[in-house]
Order: sequence, then C-alpha cells, then structure tokens
Amino acid sequence: MPAIVTLNAGHTVAVAGAGLLGRLVAWQLLRDGHAVSLFDAGDLDTPPAAAWTAAGMVAPLCETVVSERCVYDMGRLALAQWPRWLEELEAPSLWHRRGSLMVAHPQDEGELAQFRRDLDGALGASAHYAELDAAGLNELEPDLAGGFRHGLFLEEEAHLDNRELLARLLEAIRRLGGECHGHCPVETFPGELETPAGRRTFDLVIDCRGTGARPRHPSLRGVRGETLHVHTDEVHFTRPVRLMHPRYQLYVVPKPGGRFVIGATQIESEDRSPISLQSSLELSSALYTLSPAFAEARILEQGVNLRPAFRDNLPHVTCHDGLITANGLFRHGYLLAPAVAGHLLAVVRGRGAQPFADVLAAPPPQEHTP
Ligand SMILES: Cc1cc2nc3c(=O)[nH]c(=O)nc-3n(C[C@H](O)[C@H](O)[C@H](O)COP(=O)(O)OP(=O)(O)OC[C@H]3O[C@@H](n4cnc5c(N)ncnc54)[C@H](O)[C@@H]3O)c2cc1C
Repeated sequence: MPAIVTLNAGHTVAVAGAGLLGRLVAWQLLRDGHAVSLFDAGDLDTPPAAAWTAAGMVAPLCETVVSERCVYDMGRLALAQWPRWLEELEAPSLWHRRGSLMVAHPQDEGELAQFRRDLDGALGASAHYAELDAAGLNELEPDLAGGFRHGLFLEEEAHLDNRELLARLLEAIRRLGGECHGHCPVETFPGELETPAGRRTFDLVIDCRGTGARPRHPSLRGVRGETLHVHTDEVHFTRPVRLMHPRYQLYVVPKPGGRFVIGATQIESEDRSPISLQSSLELSSALYTLSPAFAEARILEQGVNLRPAFRDNLPHVTCHDGLITANGLFRHGYLLAPAVAGHLLAVVRGRGAQPFADVLAAPPPQEHTP
C-alpha cells in the first residue's frame, strides 16, 4: 500500500521535469487549486525532453505487437482522454484521429503478414483493421508510391501535434500562475527539492525527470531514438504511414506546415551524439521509397533522444510520503501518459490508493469502442 500523499487545495507542489508527464501533471494540479512550481534542466521552449523529439503517434495497435497487452488497454484510454484534454486546452485541432497505414514493399510483404498474425494473436477479435489493395492505398494516401500492392489500415489510431501541445501546456501552466524554472536541474527528495539555488520544501514533490531520474532509479535506462524532420509541399500524407522492413519499422508522421517527422531508430545505447550516417541514410531512403516526391524535401532537423525505460519496458509509479515518481514511458509516452498521469492524479486527489502495478495487471475492459 503506498504512503498517503493526498493533497487538499492550496498545497505546494514541486514538479521536477517539464517533459510530457511533468507538464500534464503540473497543469492538472494548478487546475485543482495547488501552488505548483515546475523545474526543468533545459530550456522550457525547446526542452531536451524525449517528448519534444517524439513523433506524437497514439498507436495502440502498432505498439501492441511489440509490447504487453496492458499497453493496448492504456492506449485505448489515451484515445478517449487526449481529445478531452485538448478541448480543455482550447486546442482540439492538435488531435488527428485518421488512423495509420502500414505498408511493405512486395519483397517484404511477409513482414506485413507476420504483423497481422501478431496483432490477431495479441488482440483476437479486438484487432480492428482493414486490408487494403493498391487501389485502397491510393484512395487513402494518393501521394504514396505506386509499387505497394497491400497494406493495413488501423483506423482507430491517432496522432497529435506534440510540440504545439507542449507549448500549449506551458502557456496554460503560466496562465494559471504556475512558477516555471528552465535551465534549473534539480534533485528530488520527499517534500524537498535540491535546486542550484539551495534546498526548497514543498508539501509534495513529483519526479517526472525521464532519463534524468537515474539517481533515483538506478535500473532506469535510456534507449536511443533518431529522427529526421523534413519539409516539402509536394507530399500530402494525412496520417502516419509505417513501412515494414525485415530490419526495422520506420514511419513518417505529418506535422503542420508541410513538415514530416521520419523515425525512428531504436538502439540500446545512451549515446546522445548526433544521428549516424547509417541511420540518416536508412531513414531518408525509406522516406524516398514511400514517395519519390520526398526527393526534393529539405532536411530541417535531426533529432536524437533517449526513451526512458525500466527493465520490463513498462511505466512505474511509486508513492512515498511527500514524493511521487512516474517514469519508464519508453517508446509510448503519448500513448500511456493519460493512464499514468491519471493514476498519479487519482492518488494525489485521494481516489486511487491502488499500486500502479495492479493497474497494469488489471484485466482488459470487455467492451470495444472503435
Ligand atoms: C525518437 C522518439 C520518438 C518517439 N515517438 C513517440 C510516439 O510517436 N508516440 C509516443 O507515444 N511516444 C513516443 N516517444 C516516447 C516519448 O517521447 C516518451 O515516452 C515520453 O516523452 C516520456 O515522457 P516523460 O515526461 O517521462 O520524459 P521526457 O519527455 O523525456 O521529459 C523529462 C524532462 O525532465 C527533464 N529533466 C531531466 N533531468 C532533470 C533534472 N535533474 N532536473 C530537472 N529536469 C530534468 C528533461 O530535461 C525533460 O524535459 C518517442 C521517443 C523518442 C525518443
């Protein structure tokens, strides 16, 4: 049973880490009437968070094939929760529920068939997808290269404009009177924070530092991911497109203003140095084969970051008196944040004393709401 951390309105809360979880939690606690101070080691406008580098897909079906069943169940919650939060932030246009498309070159169609079998094996009747032929693919994404004969359309899935979301969350935090400290690395303790300016005490400290929380979680690791951001007015994909390949699964996600994020490698390394030539070539050539019209796209940015992961690749929430930690969202931060932040907030609001491990082990909901 976790220690009691319930707050009444007007308590002081420090949130360490202004990535995805930290911003969500700070925003919600300010709305509950608490005095919240948010700290990040980096710049608040262009944070060094994995959340900034991420592609922003909310893809429970794609992730199920490489994860535990509970990731899918938490992802279903995300599909319902994100539109509500974005309405509250007055930013509903950042949410795109247009599904995602999976394709493979003719020589790799076995990979697509294996993915479909894995999905059926993991989800049974809940695995909702449509099999498309070349005409169906062309109807959904006319700019897709002509050589693809088969694809899968995962209609339930969504993506969001994650960088704009992070900016909107920060704006809302400031508007509600949150104290925001960028370039301020902190160490967390129950009811206390060590800042460069000295120790400060709070009624509650919440640690959302991602891979920066290693001093508190020695078993936490970072998993390197690399992306490219490109711009072109020649391609008009409206949803994430994933390319199956024997060695990797790559995706391209449309962003506002003709931008696309191509990602992502997954390398068991904590190296944050720039993208390797090999990764850059693989990402660009995958992009080019999805649509030759990408040939003239301009490379705007190369992204490298570390996904925070525990050994089981599942999120962990721990509650001590005066300190809550939430971490390990790995490659599914946007997919899992509603469940993880929701649990953390329920604990703080005195409505969820159940350990998070029990939430992960809970049986899946029975009904299906596409
Ligand atoms: C290439 C890539 C692509 C991804 N794509 C997706 C996707 O499409 N969909 C999806 O669901 N997930 C995706 N993810 C995963 C997602 O980004 C992470 O799971 C999520 O960002 C984790 O959120 P977090 O708040 O725990 O950590 P972060 O977002 O990393 O935030 C942690 C914050 O803590 C700060 N911090 C660290 N140390 C300190 C300190 N000592 N003091 C103060 N602040 C500190 C950091 O500066 C950072 O801002 C992707 C990740 C990567 C790397």
